[in-house]
Amino acid sequence: MIKVTVWNEFVHEREYEGIKRIYPNGIHGCIADFLQKNEDITVRCATLDMPNQGISDEILADTDVLIWWAHARHEDISDENVRLIQNHVLSGMGFIGLHSAHFSKVMKALLGTSMTLHWRHGDREKLWCTAPYHPIAAGVEPCIEIPEEEMYGEFFDIPKPDDVVFTGWFGGGEVFRSGCTFTRGMGKIFYFQPGHEEYPIYYMPQIQRIITNAVRWAKPESRLDKFPECSAD
Ligand code: ZN
Repeated sequence: MIKVTVWNEFVHEREYEGIKRIYPNGIHGCIADFLQKNEDITVRCATLDMPNQGISDEILADTDVLIWWAHARHEDISDENVRLIQNHVLSGMGFIGLHSAHFSKVMKALLGTSMTLHWRHGDREKLWCTAPYHPIAAGVEPCIEIPEEEMYGEFFDIPKPDDVVFTGWFGGGEVFRSGCTFTRGMGKIFYFQPGHEEYPIYYMPQIQRIITNAVRWAKPESRLDKFPECSAD
């Protein structure tokens, strides 16, 4: 069994009626629902309002892949939790950052760059597969049409990815490295751009396929009990 924890700040779905209608059980509820249909995946959800922000060493030790959706409350995440997550990734836990999670403290700590990008509301996207040989692209169409999506455009300040599995094109002409993989320590990381909260993108079967593939790809092949501390001598 692959043990997945879906972490969501769960703010917009409670603040705005229109978003609540799209995701009545939160974005995490939608993602958990489609992942749980797979017999090899078991899911737990965690949200910002839970004790210790839904994060603990015990939960992370029992998580093969952590999925992170956040937008409005990045700065609220404690530095201690960021360090804890980073250490678990370095020890082998997989990490999937979705949409505006690019700007989370966790992703900035993992990747070490500013993670800035260009953005604009109200566009459409063609999501092109630019690495069809990659396990995350298995069974995915060469081009997925997303009728409504927030535009994220280059330059996207990320370190050089291991693979750019998907490249987004937007109606305004911008392009974006929309699906990128990285390795940090023993851990595999996937950043995936689609998923603005105002549009029902996580209900799209092809998007669900990509996230499910990413979970199977990011699960640790082997995992250290504890990331080795540096020795000073
Ligand atoms: Zn957004």
